[in-house]
Amino acid sequence: MTELIKYTAAETATAIATGEVSAVEVAQAHLDRIDAVDKKVNAFLHVDGEGALAAARKVDDKRAKGEPLSPLAGVPLALKDVFTTKGIPTTCGSKMLEGWIPPYDATLTRRLKDADVVILGKTNMDEFAMGSSTENSAYGPTGNPWDLTRIPGGSGGGSAAALAAFEAPLAIGTDTGGSIRQPGAVTGTVGVKPTYGAVSRYGLVAFSSSLDQGGPCARTVLDAALLHEAIAGHDPLDSTSIDAPVPAVVEAAKMRDIRGMRIGVVKEFAGEGYQAGVMQRFNETVELLRELGAEVVEVSCPSFTLALPAYYLIAPSECSSNLARFDAMRYGLRVGDDGTRSAEQVTALTREAGFGDEVKRRIILGTYALSSGYYDAYYGSAQKVRTLISRDFDAAFAGVDVLISPTTPTTAFPIGERADDPMAMYLADLCTIPSNLAGNAAMSLPCGLAPEDNLPVGLQIIAPAMADDRLYRVGGTVEAALNDKWGHTLLEEAPAL
Ligand code: GLN
Repeated sequence: MTELIKYTAAETATAIATGEVSAVEVAQAHLDRIDAVDKKVNAFLHVDGEGALAAARKVDDKRAKGEPLSPLAGVPLALKDVFTTKGIPTTCGSKMLEGWIPPYDATLTRRLKDADVVILGKTNMDEFAMGSSTENSAYGPTGNPWDLTRIPGGSGGGSAAALAAFEAPLAIGTDTGGSIRQPGAVTGTVGVKPTYGAVSRYGLVAFSSSLDQGGPCARTVLDAALLHEAIAGHDPLDSTSIDAPVPAVVEAAKMRDIRGMRIGVVKEFAGEGYQAGVMQRFNETVELLRELGAEVVEVSCPSFTLALPAYYLIAPSECSSNLARFDAMRYGLRVGDDGTRSAEQVTALTREAGFGDEVKRRIILGTYALSSGYYDAYYGSAQKVRTLISRDFDAAFAGVDVLISPTTPTTAFPIGERADDPMAMYLADLCTIPSNLAGNAAMSLPCGLAPEDNLPVGLQIIAPAMADDRLYRVGGTVEAALNDKWGHTLLEEAPAL
């Protein structure tokens, strides 16, 4: 394996800026890696070799001319297939959009291009980002590079797997209920859900608009911070975009000092259903935080136990409305348009053929929850629970700087194990969903391997809205301390592919 693919994003950028390597060499090394392993991993739905090499050549030209380079110039990235990319297929993991070529770039895509990040291709995902395992993709599951018979998490399993398989040093995910953090946790990588509104949703194909948030995925906390700075910031094209300065996340990632910080352990995220090895590594990390000079206390957030049922009313309700746009008239698939059928019939046939089971389940659930006789009982109640969860966060953050918990109750489960049991699948996001409902920021980073299965365990750090820098300060400090303790990074323990 060429060493170039092992570089962090920060190292890659420096190596390119100093002329140690060219951006083209870096891009080619990653394209070769994808060629060598992605038949097994299936992290990518589309690889844009030509586009990647052209973007890399542009960086090399800039450097040759002595033009200034952005902090991530020439660094390759894997983009979740839920962001539109002009001229490049965007499927959202669905048959519904097979063959659709967007006529425009998402704001996030545009920012990556403006920062001279080299987009390698589009990554696999659960259909329209609904799932926790990437098994709901219409294009086959992605394997977890730690054990290809296991799930890489979801919905952004392709992005997380691309990082863990050294196919890209950076990736982009979206987190509606945990789809950045949960894949990060089970693949031994870093994932951040920024504060809602921090990263533009323009061109992010909508699942649940009040919850969806794009964010950075990487192998190190600093790399995630560099990517965070590149993609965050106000966008007039997104009415929910926050018009305020982006917190100084890169600086925070480099601080490596948490002395005096107050950290709350969420009491509700433990007990039945939590794997012993996950709790063991989590509890060891709590001790480590104390050794590093933080004050750790237990905090109760009683409404968090209601987050999952509230989420599974709100998210399907919004999706039932958002996915109405796939009517066979405007995008992608059209079935049965033989001149004998009405538009309604073509729409129905197309939606029957184009959507998978989980998407249909959610559309039916959401339509039911929003129907006139049930609106107050279901959707209305769920929104009230959402308020209670925000109040729990407000009360907690009055006493602590950040909250922590395991990211997921278990390590990566075998492909197929939960496929026919939606409830078991939904439980994978038990700890991540409250932050989506409240809109605050959260990160997952690796904190060890569970002794019983040698699979990665994620530590979740949660910060108040617009205090994303705290995630990076705590995350960067913990990461450095753990790497010191282990003598290497966690991913170096992953079996060779
Ligand atoms: N697993 C959750 C769901 O299925 C979260 C998905 C996401 O964050 N996109 O809805």
